[in-house]
Amino acid sequence: MTAVTLSVSSAATRAAMPGDIRAVAFDLDDTLWDVGPVIVRAERCLQEWLGEHCPRIVERVSIEEMRAARERLALSEPHNAHDFTYLRITALAAQARECGYGEEVAERAFQVFFAARNELRPYPDVQPALERLRARYALASLSNGNADLELIGLAPLFSVSLSARQIGAAKPHPRCFGQLARDLSLDPRSILYVGDDPFHDIEGARAAGLRTAWMNRGGAPWPAGLRPADLEVADCLRLAELLALDGASCQT
Ligand SMILES: [Mg+2]
Repeated sequence: MTAVTLSVSSAATRAAMPGDIRAVAFDLDDTLWDVGPVIVRAERCLQEWLGEHCPRIVERVSIEEMRAARERLALSEPHNAHDFTYLRITALAAQARECGYGEEVAERAFQVFFAARNELRPYPDVQPALERLRARYALASLSNGNADLELIGLAPLFSVSLSARQIGAAKPHPRCFGQLARDLSLDPRSILYVGDDPFHDIEGARAAGLRTAWMNRGGAPWPAGLRPADLEVADCLRLAELLALDGASCQT
C-alpha cells in the first residue's frame, strides 16, 4: 500500500474545493513519473550515439559541458529559454560545427535522446487513477518538458496535452494556464492543476485562477513563504479518492 498523506490546507479551501471541478490537469515530470533517472539514461544513450557517429564531440565535450552550453544559450536567448528541444538541438548543432561535423547531426542526435527520454514507466498509481478520474473529469497535461504522451502510451487518457514549446512560454507564466483553460473550454476555477513544483505548478496555477493540488510523493515540507495548495496528495490514487468523495458530497 502506498503511503498517502492528505493535508487540506484550511477549512476554507476544503469548502472551496469540491464539486465544481470539471477537469484535472497534470504536470508530467516528477508528478506522473520519476524523471531524474530517465534523463540520466537518455543522456547516456545520446553519448553512445555521438560516440559512434560523431566521436570528436564526445572526446571534446562532456555531458556537463553540454548542459552548461544549453544554460548559456537559454540566457543569451531568453525568448527561447522555455523550449528544451530547441536548446538541445541548437547547442548540439554548435558543438557539431565546432568539432567539424555538419549541423544536421544535431537533429538526428536529438531524436536518439528524445526516444530514450520517452522510454519510461509512470508510477504504478498513475494509470489506474487516471482511468478512474477520466470517468468523471476531463483530463489534461501541461508540462514545461518535452515528454511525449503518445510515445509513453498515456495519450488516450488526456483530452488536452500542452507543452511550454507549443505555448511559447513556461510555467509559471499565466499564458500556460490560460491556454490550458481555453483548450479545455473551461473557466480556470473549474480546473484542478496537479503538480510537484510548489512555485512553477502550484503558485503559477493559483495565480491564473485554477485550483491546485500538490503532488508530494516524497513527503517534503511545504516551502516557507508560499501559500499552500488547496490539496496535498502523495499519489494519484489518493487524488482520485478525494475527488470521488468531493463529488459525492456535492451531490447531497
Ligand atoms: Mg514536475
